[in-house]
Amino acid sequence: MDVLGLGADPVAGELICSAKGCRAEARWGLLWNNPRLHTPERRKVWLACDDHRTHLEQFLGARSFWKQTVPVTELDHE
Ligand SMILES: [Zn+2]
Repeated sequence: MDVLGLGADPVAGELICSAKGCRAEARWGLLWNNPRLHTPERRKVWLACDDHRTHLEQFLGARSFWKQTVPVTELDHE
């Protein structure tokens, strides 16, 4: 169920941080969109632990891809 109505991609399997080399449990879902690849409503999801949340937000923000960060508990699970 898509509780937020965000059109975010479902998150499958273990909720592990998306940062390279990090195996920490994810606590945040970063919703982003690349307008060159995705329709405007589409939301890709990266997962982040507390340590990497800011780093990943800045990475996406620098490319104007970042849209929103939500607690991982609010993501749509597959
Ligand atoms: Zn991490």
